[in-house]
Amino acid sequence: MAPIPKECEFLVIGGGSGGLASARRASGMYGAKTIAIEDKRLGGTCVNVGCVPKKVTWNAAAIAETFKDAKAYGFGYDNFSFDWNTMKKKRDAYVERLNGIYARNLDNDKVELIRGRASFVDKNTVEVNTHDGGKEIVKAKKILIAVGGKPRFPKIPGVEHAISSDGFFDLEEQPKKVATVGAGYIGVEMSGMFMALGTETHFFIREDNLLRTFDPMIQKTVTETYVKQGIDLHRGSDISKIEDIGNGKKRITYTEHKLRDKQYTMDVDVVLFAIGRDPEITDLNLDAVGVKLAENGHINVDEYQNTNVENIYALGDACDKNFELTPVAIAAGRRLSDRLFGGKKDAHLEYSNIPSVVFAHPEVGTIGLTEPKAREKYGDTVKVYQTNFTAMYYAMMEPDEKGPTAFKVICEGPNERIVGLHILGAGVSEMLQGFGVAIKMGATKADFDRCVAIHPTSSEELVTLK
Ligand SMILES: Cc1cc2nc3c(=O)[nH]c(=O)nc-3n(C[C@H](O)[C@H](O)[C@H](O)COP(=O)(O)OP(=O)(O)OC[C@H]3O[C@@H](n4cnc5c(N)ncnc54)[C@H](O)[C@@H]3O)c2cc1C
Repeated sequence: MAPIPKECEFLVIGGGSGGLASARRASGMYGAKTIAIEDKRLGGTCVNVGCVPKKVTWNAAAIAETFKDAKAYGFGYDNFSFDWNTMKKKRDAYVERLNGIYARNLDNDKVELIRGRASFVDKNTVEVNTHDGGKEIVKAKKILIAVGGKPRFPKIPGVEHAISSDGFFDLEEQPKKVATVGAGYIGVEMSGMFMALGTETHFFIREDNLLRTFDPMIQKTVTETYVKQGIDLHRGSDISKIEDIGNGKKRITYTEHKLRDKQYTMDVDVVLFAIGRDPEITDLNLDAVGVKLAENGHINVDEYQNTNVENIYALGDACDKNFELTPVAIAAGRRLSDRLFGGKKDAHLEYSNIPSVVFAHPEVGTIGLTEPKAREKYGDTVKVYQTNFTAMYYAMMEPDEKGPTAFKVICEGPNERIVGLHILGAGVSEMLQGFGVAIKMGATKADFDRCVAIHPTSSEELVTLK
């Protein structure tokens, strides 16, 4: 017998960062009858296999670095031990607690949760294959697609022996030797964490530099620092085959820059691909409703998260806004509900000057345009202020133990409006948020200079740039 359809005003497909934020605001704040559908664990990528477990692991890596630095300050640590499995178990427990909090939050805001996989039947109807083996039909006036993304793998023989960033969080023990692939921020973060925690890390990238969408200063400094810190960087490389050679080991076959005709092999414990993410839309049956995709396969939306189909919306990693970040999905979701159910007709997220951070070693923070993009947009009116210096934290260390600090401020026009800020060094992830507020408000170089410096800090350099 066909199930009796459930009906609601707002149906949200995907219980991750953006979906939950939008559902809770629609129901909790505006009283719209809302149903959310989630196929996996509540909280989506960020909570389960993204920001949260990543930052916990990065904290462990930062502590390992501090242990090494401590010697320079007179502490007597020659050796320290680290138990990956203990960290993993505690990290899993923390994430599980968050899953529970997210479920309770939905309850508090009276959002009905259906656990299962959703696909469209028509523009107001969704079918759910539920986790108990049944089926639900949900009819809704408005539907939000918030299904996020999934890691991409290359099509090479033996790829099933490799893991993605999802698999990083399943590793029960610390691998002794890894091959990581992908110069984007996820590859950089994961390689950095392995390295800082003592894993022999071979990092394979297609071109010469890491973080190639970032400002050239960031690309150059992070790449040089990773090499200096001991990452074995294989530039211009390509892995063409992976074999399982037993005892948990994998053999990779690869080519490398300048020696393209020669093939090398290497045996490692783990091969990790971080070569990009695709929207999780394959099972949604979007053809049934005619939702248009952008060239890159993501869902095409306007500034208001509208798709081309009336009353169907999309946000977060599934859509083509190019800011795959949790706070972006959350902000877009809340503003969408403000607009649809809260009477705020113009509510939408401005997709510009969005600050973001890479938890590399050292950290990177960025907001606005890179220098090449600023010059492309504003031509000769661009003025750049830049500094490299040794932070006082490194005062007690030998020259080869000191980390880099590099800041760049990019201004435009006679008033020197700040259109880009790129910072790298210890503590910059916490530094960026406040400067982000100022830049979002339209700060100029003179505004930065008017703010009295806080001494002795690294951030004071940003308000004293010459
Ligand atoms: C390793 C890693 C580290 C990251 N670190 C950061 C960071 O430090 N800071 C930051 O801001 N961002 C970070 N991100 C990005 C961030 O996690 C995403 O931008 C964010 O989670 C996107 O939110 P979303 O709502 O679009 O999708 P998601 O949070 O991915 O949620 C989508 C949900 O939809 C569900 N779903 C999919 N299809 C269906 C279906 N058919 N039916 C039912 N449910 C479905 C999925 O199971 C998932 O739970 C990181 C990502 C990764 C992979």
